[in-house]
Amino acid sequence: MAIISINPATGETLLTVDPLTTEQTIAAIDRADGAYRDWKMTSLDGRKSFLLKFAQRLRSRSEELAHLITREMGKRISESRYEIEYCAKISEFYANGAQKFLADEPVPVDDADAFIQYAPLGVIMGVMPWNFPFYQVVRFATPNIMAGNTVLVKHASNVPQCARMIESLFHECDLPDGVYANLFIPSELVEVAVSDPRVQGVSLTGSERAGASVAAMAGQNLKRSVLELGGNDPFIVLDDVDVDEIADLAIKGRIVNAGQSCVASKRFIVVKAVAQQFIDAFKKRMSQLTLGDPTDEATTLGPLSTEAAAVNLLEQVQSSIDAGATIVLGGDRPDRKGAYFNPTILTGVTPDMPTFDQELFGPVATVYVVDNEAEAIELANHSTYGLGGSVFCKDIDRARRAARQIESGMVFINQPTRSQAELPFGGVKKSGYGRELSRLGILEFVNKKLIHHR
Ligand code: NDP
Repeated sequence: MAIISINPATGETLLTVDPLTTEQTIAAIDRADGAYRDWKMTSLDGRKSFLLKFAQRLRSRSEELAHLITREMGKRISESRYEIEYCAKISEFYANGAQKFLADEPVPVDDADAFIQYAPLGVIMGVMPWNFPFYQVVRFATPNIMAGNTVLVKHASNVPQCARMIESLFHECDLPDGVYANLFIPSELVEVAVSDPRVQGVSLTGSERAGASVAAMAGQNLKRSVLELGGNDPFIVLDDVDVDEIADLAIKGRIVNAGQSCVASKRFIVVKAVAQQFIDAFKKRMSQLTLGDPTDEATTLGPLSTEAAAVNLLEQVQSSIDAGATIVLGGDRPDRKGAYFNPTILTGVTPDMPTFDQELFGPVATVYVVDNEAEAIELANHSTYGLGGSVFCKDIDRARRAARQIESGMVFINQPTRSQAELPFGGVKKSGYGRELSRLGILEFVNKKLIHHR
């Protein structure tokens, strides 16, 4: 796949980049490995100062960086600004927290002193997606940099400008050469890095297909891997709710990033007592979204990231309709230039339809009506994915009981699933394994080394 930056709102080609050769990729691994020898010896305070500078840099250039994201992958400008601020917060979270997260941990034993040292591992490879082109990379890179690892990043082929900018921001903070490096490589060259003996692990965020491929490489080479893949998150509405309030949250959960988020709410599972009321309220709000230029503050729904993504989504929606699903709203693309998709609501999607268990990466919601709470939980768990999920119910004890039964890595009560630096992020089943963010995120690629003495 060519590395090419195209503004999805206009179709304009912004930049084309020549990919690295195998030899250049190996040379980058050499530099990352060389840098690791020194980086692992730097103090936590030393590492912290670079990341705090990085956070400061993100904030001082926020407007420019936000416009870069919006131009390159179509995110609405206010969401791009939020992404940059959130990246600054994640950098500070790890800069300030690493001392505590990585402190030696005593192991109580009767006959000796023992403790766990959290030691760095070496060069770690990141394979990152375009949907949050700064956040995904920062979420992977900053805990590893604080842990004393060095990182190589293969970013998605449609966001080369963001990829290059992140690397140059680290350089501007005087991070030593080789501690962070962007690799402009096609996915075929990821194996060169993963199989290199100096690379100690790989973290991928993206599709199930890419995850399976990279996990196979990691397994073949006996490397540790973390996978953050797709989701088909349930948004469960029980009978005891204020439907208007929930419909507002449903829009927030589904339309985040034009629906292109792994933890966007995707399956709206509503008990029949409030189902019609919910569908009406949700439809009203979805139909009021203002499709348009993502740099315009008045726009509430921007384009998808690429024309190919919009074409693919249309095929998925069409296959549901062909199989008998009902269109409550939308179901097609607007007659305008750019990778736009109309807000869509489907009902009547059944397990025999191909899209039932597929991730719909765009402004398309499926609503399921169920008889009761038990049926809602059963349907929520009827998925090969298990990333996030939400339960809406005024009775918190009841909501907690329901949340405990959901097969996913994260469940939020009375709010859509979201990401926050302090909270572990990750899934089960085909949504992947391992955790990012929080203390768990920094412990994924460290050697939990036992030191024991009598
Ligand atoms: P991909 O999974 O193809 O891309 C994510 C990253 O993985 C990119 O850097 C990509 O590189 C790389 N990659 C892809 N295939 C391989 C491979 N075989 N070996 C190594 N690296 C690989 O996502 P798409 O952009 O194609 O999106 C497809 C679908 O994936 C979406 O519709 C959505 O359902 C899901 N997705 C989920 C995301 C999440 O946040 N969990 C994020 C993005 C997508 P390159 O760009 O060069 O192909």
